Amino acid sequence: MTAAVFDAEVEARPWGEQQGLDDPDYRRQTARLLEHSAFYRAKLGAAGFRSAADVGGLDAIASLPFTEKDELRASRTPENPVGSYLIPPLSEVARIFSTSGTTGTPSYVPLTLEDIADWVRISSRSYSASGVGRGDRLISTYNAGPFVAGVALEAFNGMGLTHIPVGSASTDRLVTAIQLLKADTVVLTPSYAAHIAEWTQERGIDLAASSVRRVLVAGEPGGGEPAVRAKLEAAWGADVTEAMGLGDISVSLWGECTEKHGMHFSGRGLVHFELIDPQSGKPLPMADGAEGELVYTHLRHRAAPLLRFRSRDHVRLWTSPCACGRTAPRVRCIGRTDDMLIVRGVNVFPTAIREIVNEFSPLVSGVILVRPRRKHFQQDPPLPVAVELGEGIAVADDLAQRIRARLREALVVATEIELLPFGTLPRSSYKSKLVDWSNALPPHE
Ligand SMILES: [Zn+2]
Repeated sequence: MTAAVFDAEVEARPWGEQQGLDDPDYRRQTARLLEHSAFYRAKLGAAGFRSAADVGGLDAIASLPFTEKDELRASRTPENPVGSYLIPPLSEVARIFSTSGTTGTPSYVPLTLEDIADWVRISSRSYSASGVGRGDRLISTYNAGPFVAGVALEAFNGMGLTHIPVGSASTDRLVTAIQLLKADTVVLTPSYAAHIAEWTQERGIDLAASSVRRVLVAGEPGGGEPAVRAKLEAAWGADVTEAMGLGDISVSLWGECTEKHGMHFSGRGLVHFELIDPQSGKPLPMADGAEGELVYTHLRHRAAPLLRFRSRDHVRLWTSPCACGRTAPRVRCIGRTDDMLIVRGVNVFPTAIREIVNEFSPLVSGVILVRPRRKHFQQDPPLPVAVELGEGIAVADDLAQRIRARLREALVVATEIELLPFGTLPRSSYKSKLVDWSNALPPHE
């Protein structure tokens, strides 16, 4: 059974009409920023935009400056710990989430009640796209507490699901919940999905024979890479689809439908997105196969609205019609712009390396670690890559050479492959680390 489109009228509207529909909201929002956001009044003013007339409509958005995460951080003071882009007084903010960053002071994400309702709506569209619907039993593993993922969990209430939150602290507890409560759907990170596959296999539990028919992954790229997905689908005996959001903009902004050809944009009418070249900052035409960084603008957000916020998410995009009936473009996340390495002029994403290495499964486990020699995005070839062998696989004579040749052919990058026994590289139950800078030397002059 395919679940219904959550926002049928909105989600099936011709995409070409979206910008025109969003334009009045955008103009209202930018006028509000100029009037009430100290951060944007200063930033836009410095760039020569002092009035709503200077800013214009959505068709002129590319002339406005980008907003960077570092600028938001720099706008925080002891008097204004959220940042000078916060508009209402804190007494009108309904909730303050924190980002799950591991270093320094957390950044705070304030939401009004209306903002929460918008996020719940976006999340509901995304999860419905993945085929989840009324009557399904869904296990969630996000330890959402202080983090924005908590809003995604609220979406389940309105979707008629039986939601079973178990967190990610105990795999034993999770597997028991699947077995006893006969869950249809599990929501987790791709790393954790892979961990559970290994965990059950070690204990002789046939995960593929469980009641789970859908595995919804989010939180990091990987669930869309063909080899990673094929492996997870085989281990779980279930369909794998993914979702992607961004703490400062919205949860579950993109959700993949059951056609499994990329994640549809679920924020339409509430968020505007652009595709840009991360190096030049120039907008890129939206066409099938276009690749670039996503940039977001809130159209209605009240508490801490952002304009042209650089996500650092590098994606491939499709605009061709999808059989599910949703008309919004689809993307697959290739990696973080920040993780992008340039080896002799060629852009290389660690996730792309992992995808190619995975073609050699089951000779390899799928766990890799790129170990750059210099602390710089520019790297001299060959790029060192540690590749873990599959379980029970001894070092095969020419495997390193074959992987090296395949990487050169597919990504036009020269690598140096070090094969390691199964289980030697670190695993994370939340987000996988793909680059290890610990042995990198300072950058060249
Ligand atoms: Zn679709």
